[in-house]
Amino acid sequence: MIKRREFAKLSALAAATAAAQQRAFGAAPTAAASDIQWDKAPCRFCGTGCHVRVGVKDGRVVAIEGDQLAEVNKGLLCVKGYHVGLALYGKDRLTQPLLRRNGVLEPISWEEAVEMISQRILAAPDKFAIYGSGQWTIPEGYAANKFIKGGLSSNHIDPNARLCMASAVTGFLSVYGVDEPSGCYDDFDKCDVLILWGNNMAEMHPVLFSRFIDRRTRGEKVTLIDIGTRRTRTTEFADHYLEFRPHSDLAIMNGIAYLLIKSGTYDKTFVERFCNFRKAPKDPAATPTAPLLGDAMSFDDYKAALEPYTPEHVEKLSGVPAENIRMLAGLFGRKDIRITSTWCMGFNQHSRGTNANRLCHGIHLLSGHYGKPGDAPTSLTGQPSACGTAREVGTMCHFLPGGRVILNPEHRKETEKIWNVPEGRINAKIGHHTVLMWEKFCTPADKGGDISTLWVQVTNPGQSLPNLHKLFKAKAGQPDKFLIVSDVYHTATTELADLVLPSALWVEKNGMYGNSERRTQQWFRMVKPPGEARDDCWQMLAVARRLHDLGHPGMKDKDGKFLFTFKNDKGEEVPVWDWPRYYDINVDKALFEEYRAFSRYKHKDLAPYDEYVKARGLRWPVVQQADGSWRETKFRFSEFDDSYVKKGAEIQFYHSVTKDDKALIWFAPAEKAAEEPDAEFPFWLCTGRVLEHWHTGSMTRRIPQLHAAMPHAYVEMHPDDAREHGFANGESILIKTRRGELKLPVWIDGRGHPPRGSLFIPFFDERLLCNDLTLGEVDPISKEPDYKKCAATVLRATL
Ligand code: SF4
Repeated sequence: MIKRREFAKLSALAAATAAAQQRAFGAAPTAAASDIQWDKAPCRFCGTGCHVRVGVKDGRVVAIEGDQLAEVNKGLLCVKGYHVGLALYGKDRLTQPLLRRNGVLEPISWEEAVEMISQRILAAPDKFAIYGSGQWTIPEGYAANKFIKGGLSSNHIDPNARLCMASAVTGFLSVYGVDEPSGCYDDFDKCDVLILWGNNMAEMHPVLFSRFIDRRTRGEKVTLIDIGTRRTRTTEFADHYLEFRPHSDLAIMNGIAYLLIKSGTYDKTFVERFCNFRKAPKDPAATPTAPLLGDAMSFDDYKAALEPYTPEHVEKLSGVPAENIRMLAGLFGRKDIRITSTWCMGFNQHSRGTNANRLCHGIHLLSGHYGKPGDAPTSLTGQPSACGTAREVGTMCHFLPGGRVILNPEHRKETEKIWNVPEGRINAKIGHHTVLMWEKFCTPADKGGDISTLWVQVTNPGQSLPNLHKLFKAKAGQPDKFLIVSDVYHTATTELADLVLPSALWVEKNGMYGNSERRTQQWFRMVKPPGEARDDCWQMLAVARRLHDLGHPGMKDKDGKFLFTFKNDKGEEVPVWDWPRYYDINVDKALFEEYRAFSRYKHKDLAPYDEYVKARGLRWPVVQQADGSWRETKFRFSEFDDSYVKKGAEIQFYHSVTKDDKALIWFAPAEKAAEEPDAEFPFWLCTGRVLEHWHTGSMTRRIPQLHAAMPHAYVEMHPDDAREHGFANGESILIKTRRGELKLPVWIDGRGHPPRGSLFIPFFDERLLCNDLTLGEVDPISKEPDYKKCAATVLRATL
């Protein structure tokens, strides 16, 4: 895969990276390293948002070190972070636009590419959609959002964040009336007990996991409880491991609530002062807004609804011994300890993901384990800017920037005002969410497939979408469907692309991300992208300008000016759509300052761009002080830290769904999974990630050290199941579901240890696409698919 000369270059970077790691931990810089230019950036990979220092020499990134000034990681990085610089230098970087002609991708010019996209949009603007991700920088996502919603009057835009944290969003919105965690990573430093709900934190958020576990080496007594469906590296550090039957997590949480009330150990004062009760409506799809409001219920109704969830009944449903349900409830019932609950994909990629999120918030609220450092329910994200771009900028098909929603006429009006576009420009109809967008794109036009041109930026749906045969591969052989892909490497998605656009990556462009703890981060371009690769944001602006020149009325504001008009310090307009002029001004700064105007409405206040240049990120709301300085907020809704809480209120949920400053404790029943094992498909199949690779592996598989450490996908299986089927460790076997089949080597007693009757496959390997097997079933409220549970069978593979 890698030629000798290229390997030598990569090895040099790896060596420099290793040297930098030593520097990061205190050694003096060497003379040879002294001509390296250093600057700060958040890591390109996961949602933790560690900061790295990037060393540049002769126009190339040559070293990476953990940033000791960064509160998130305090100089530490994980194995991906230490190698992040190598993501730029895979030998097959895309360097020129490519158009598919007669089945072959051939080079074309940027002018031709921009013209082609513009003409397709002009021909059918309502059949055009944008699919982005939480890897878009904040300004990129903002520009794409404004382009399609404020320019094309269409809401067919969604990020792949729909596939990873949409249920966390609907959970936060329906409990507190506003998205994102109230606490922050400081909770991991302060809690006495950390409960991980279906969350393999040791591999997925290793730096945060170290931040917690390292407290033990300092002599602190901290308890880790791992509640999962298979043993992982996280389990090795756990004081308690509670293995539950897939999909029964709601029963466990109801069981805890039942015991808290039964024993009288719930926090009566906290509940009376700060909470109301709600139950999920019978038909969440009945009206678009009702699912987040729910139906009112009294405390007594709530208590009665929990009656069936005795520890013994919960044991029957979940497989978790009744005594362990009592142990959990006992911890929540104590007032002398602080408990943090953390989750990620286990709750979110769940066909009842919204309810799983709600119930977790609910047991914290019910027990009063809320609102103090270390006492918090807090979700983690997988992508570097899932929070900053997907959630805050509102690049989802039903959102507008700053927590506003498409369905609210006032919100549309306010957005139109800030964008200076005519009233009514923003379409009042919600666009297609991810699964629907791809279904419509893959369905022939005469059968209702109303999306004909789809532009993908910064993501790899050809690998990450569920049920790939239906939602991606069905595009093949439909000549009227046109797929545009902006990326840095060829991926499973470019396999079906009609037009491929080469993009700049990470420090090859200016950027801003927002991590899992509401921290907005900024960096500057440090090196130039290879060949003709260009910023994703520029690509969007260039198409917008071409549409403007072709006479599309939506590309003009109320005053007849181009939607993306930027001026330099002298007040002169800069034609940023002309690539050589793009960096004449800081487009990121201009877009961010415009976007900042949206942030106050939901108290997600952002500071001016220049404040982020100085900082290693700031957690919103960032509030200006009397002396002109800007102060971040670590703990929202708590009087001791949040300046928006009324004096004397102690806790104030100032975006309360019920408009009385109270949060909602929801009841939701435990239900069956969308697909469960049966005689024909007797195994549960779960999919997920591994430490070495970031998501679909399109970057990390090009980093030799990471690729060598984890070269291919596999299927984990319990030794007794393997013995029963006569499978040897490493043998290639066939996994089948109702949607497809896949041949994989079996790994017995490997990294993870599934129980009998369960399988696990990681999704990083584009040659072994586990999403050929997964289910397209979504949570009815968040529309997030369930990647964690479907029914499968195993067979001996034939050659
Ligand atoms: S991959 Fe995540 S945990 Fe690892 S260094 Fe990057 S941001 Fe930190």
